[in-house]
Amino acid sequence: MRNHNNLAAEGYARIVVVFYLNKHRKVIQVSRSFSSLERKRYLHEMASREMDLLVIGGGITGAGIALDSSVRGLDVGLIEMQDFAMGTSSRSTKLIHGGLRYLKQGEIKLVQEVGREREILYRNAPHIVIPEWMLLPIIKGGTYGKWMTSFGLWVYDHLAKVRKNERRVMLNKEETLNKEPLLREDILIGSGYYVEYRTDDARLTIEVLKTAFHYGATMVNYAKADRFIYKEGKVVGVHVEDVAEGETYELYAKKVVNATGPWVDTIREMDHSKKGKFLHLTKGVHLVVDQSRFPLQQAVYFDIPDGRMMFAIPRDGKTYIGTTDTNYNGPLEDPDVTEEDISYILNGTNQMFPSLKLIREDVESFWAGLRPLIHESGKSPSELSRKDEIFVSESDLISIAGGKLTGYRKMAERVVDLVCLKLEQESQKSFPQSTTDKIKISGGNTAGYNHLEKGDSIKDDDSEFAAFKNKWVTEGESLGISSEVSCKLVNRYGSNVVKVFNKIMQNKDRAKEFNIDECLFGELVYGIEEEMVRTADDFLTRRTGNRFFDIQSALTNQEPVSRYLSTLFSK
Ligand code: FAD
Repeated sequence: MRNHNNLAAEGYARIVVVFYLNKHRKVIQVSRSFSSLERKRYLHEMASREMDLLVIGGGITGAGIALDSSVRGLDVGLIEMQDFAMGTSSRSTKLIHGGLRYLKQGEIKLVQEVGREREILYRNAPHIVIPEWMLLPIIKGGTYGKWMTSFGLWVYDHLAKVRKNERRVMLNKEETLNKEPLLREDILIGSGYYVEYRTDDARLTIEVLKTAFHYGATMVNYAKADRFIYKEGKVVGVHVEDVAEGETYELYAKKVVNATGPWVDTIREMDHSKKGKFLHLTKGVHLVVDQSRFPLQQAVYFDIPDGRMMFAIPRDGKTYIGTTDTNYNGPLEDPDVTEEDISYILNGTNQMFPSLKLIREDVESFWAGLRPLIHESGKSPSELSRKDEIFVSESDLISIAGGKLTGYRKMAERVVDLVCLKLEQESQKSFPQSTTDKIKISGGNTAGYNHLEKGDSIKDDDSEFAAFKNKWVTEGESLGISSEVSCKLVNRYGSNVVKVFNKIMQNKDRAKEFNIDECLFGELVYGIEEEMVRTADDFLTRRTGNRFFDIQSALTNQEPVSRYLSTLFSK
């Protein structure tokens, strides 16, 4: 059977790569899996040697650094105090931006970089970076008139090197209403129609971590850095608490990177090195409404009365809307969503889509995230630059702050360039340049299913991924999995779907025993064994997104999933 052969091939590749890397490191290891059942073993392993690099923080920034450094052959470890992506990296607008809003702020270089990055990400992770046509309505008294929108999008297309078939199209009022009939008609002039790319931020983070793991990095969630270890004034390690199992460890590394997003200054304070520039946190909230109440046909980026703009994006039978952008000084874990935040978003939406008359009760779920921006005196939240910056303390702690999900690969490259430079200065070793632009992200091995080449048309229905999807949805159906579920699984796991199908087929009896749908149970087993799922929330919020986009399933499955996990983890 082809799926078993593929599975075997993937497993073989992993062992060979690990062996190759470890031959140079003189660590003997036969096979590894990114399983939560192995957390303790990985903590012990990390504590048993001096690593080249230890990364604190398992959001997209830390994940990117782990990948870049492991591909270059560094011995790298990563610790995350909550679940992976549980900070900002599961709470964004979930777009891989081309950087249109930076154009407004005159950040030309940033537009060029994120445009290029978007293209690279699409190539390397086609299952999780999906082109999404976006409507930018032009309204009377709005941010831009017709000519400015047309010119702005044209400049953007060229700066960001947007593919020909994705370049902006200008639509008149009637054409705009055909695309999205819910838009407010009386103030509508027309629209710009351009492409953004949609993603799942938490899954992108986990896929990058899985790829880093494949290249030899060691990563553990629920492991908190609680103090630094110094030698002659320099950071040489970190004292770590395993918050899931209660043990403590001392991890040593030649270099330590602080990639903790909103916590960057907390860690700098722990190092007594918070001087000069500091973080400015702003909160962004998103709301989810069922498609039956907000039957949006088309993603829209629209003006709201206070001069800001918001997104409304259809996804999985829901529409999500956001975001706010307000200064934030509260607790960093799980920032709250206030009634004021909710009214602000509903009011803005009702202004542009007046027939909806959305009310509080229409909101099924929501999330709030913190943007870890760098403070600039006198600037409002929306005016603050989204650029990233690296700080190096006297103790040699390297901190990275700012940035975007979209630019994570380039941010990682800059950090690892610096780490390698420092390692080279301190030893006779040399390290190669970054090659992550050519590395497929886990789940992204979907090539070979049609004859399209890079640069060809990437319309959703004829892309390489669409061909892959057709094939594997059919395969799922042949295993008795409905086409709807097969389709969801292929979209979620890309080329790893074969493993999920296998878990489903192998665990039907256990699924029945725990009263969990057999496909969801297969995903759960895959999540535990290959994506380090430790709690029901890890699975229902960040591995599947159900807590946001299928709240009913999340509520129904919370108890049985927790019950199953308690059979594996005593604490
Ligand atoms: P985080 O994801 O917060 O990761 C830091 C991690 O460090 C956390 O998981 C935390 O638990 C861990 N940590 C902290 N202290 C410790 C410790 N002591 N020990 C161990 N671990 C620790 N970008 C885009 O490109 N596109 C978008 O559409 C987009 N939309 C956004 C919308 C909103 C509302 C927000 C808030 C941001 C948005 N962004 C977007 C920006 C993007 O989400 C962030 O730049 C990115 O997720 C930050 O990732 P990070 O890894 O730096 O931080």
